[in-house]
Amino acid sequence: MLYFKKIIMHPIPVNTPLLRGNELKYLTECIETGWISSEGPFINKFEEQFSKYIGSSYGIAVSSGSAALDIAMKALNIGRGDEVIMPTFTIISPAQSLVTAGALPVLVDSDPLTWNMDVTQIEAKITSRTKAILVVHIYGLPVDMDPIIEIAKKHKLKIIEDAAEMHGQTYKGKMCGSFGDISIFSFYPNKHITTGEGGMLLTNDCELAEKCKKLRNLCFEPNGQRFVHYELGWNYRMTNLQAAVGLAQLEQITSFLEMKKAMGKAYQVGLMPLKNRAYQLPLANTLYSENIYWVFGLVAPTQEEKENMINYLTDQKIGTRPFFWCMHEQPVFQKMGLFKGEKYPIAEKLSRNGFYLPSGLGLNTDDQQIVIEIVNG
Ligand SMILES: *Cc1c(COP(=O)(O)O)cnc(C)c1O
Repeated sequence: MLYFKKIIMHPIPVNTPLLRGNELKYLTECIETGWISSEGPFINKFEEQFSKYIGSSYGIAVSSGSAALDIAMKALNIGRGDEVIMPTFTIISPAQSLVTAGALPVLVDSDPLTWNMDVTQIEAKITSRTKAILVVHIYGLPVDMDPIIEIAKKHKLKIIEDAAEMHGQTYKGKMCGSFGDISIFSFYPNKHITTGEGGMLLTNDCELAEKCKKLRNLCFEPNGQRFVHYELGWNYRMTNLQAAVGLAQLEQITSFLEMKKAMGKAYQVGLMPLKNRAYQLPLANTLYSENIYWVFGLVAPTQEEKENMINYLTDQKIGTRPFFWCMHEQPVFQKMGLFKGEKYPIAEKLSRNGFYLPSGLGLNTDDQQIVIEIVNG
């Protein structure tokens, strides 16, 4: 069977979503009732159910995780002259939202084992202009939140929590995405649950929730004269079609998390031989959490070894993605004169030597075994 499969081996993409619950049923309901815009009833349902699942009072569904970050900055009045401390090793979205809001991202290096921001570097970066700490949980393990909460209290800073990769993950038993003054999620197809494109802001603050709702909808005044605006926002609305898929996905989140954990464990066992080749595998757990393996990352001993491995896997039709590229090394920010001469050696090594294997929910166990065999060579 395995032999047969190897000969006519199909490509194994880096991500395939799993849409086998009520997605089609709820979508059909949208089409049959004609509710396809953001005015439809699935929006409220999805907001209510997802915020309840995370344990936050208010959920505001939007068109993407990046859109949620733009809204978060404006809702928290983060703008010109403000500094926000965040990891250099992340997707560009949080830094982009800060820079386009006119604020300055102030970077910290990564922890070499969890790949999350090194929380011991935060306090030294605080100045009189610091307004917030932007936490980004990376790849499946949460950031160590207690020290951040303490620093934020002591210096009266806001916490923005980017939990895009952390659906259903907990820190010391409490849901990720429930720690921020504002927290955000993404529902891109490689996240634990998806709406195709989409995102959500969560907060316990009623006033902030109202602000976020206005900002996603061009700052129409909910009770004022239609088409008269006092502020600028965006059209960052989620559609009823997306929320329909999201609600169906949310119904399956417990089994999705179990599948991802099982997938991570199978990689951990199967790829043990890589340790003899000086590869670093993800931590299975920390003192405060168990890995939920948003993606299964590997850090090669050298950049050359990583490139060889990626090329080899590409030849074998196995999809991979390199790790994030550090914010201080982004050409777009360097062009703006940001982060001149800054060095973050741990994050630089992760970005040069790291990549991840097929980790989507649609990866079946047979295909995963093929990936493991081929990686081990
Ligand atoms: C995916 C992701 C985002 C962006 O979400 P989009 O919905 O793709 O805009 C932001 N932050 C993190 C940490 C992510 O993984």
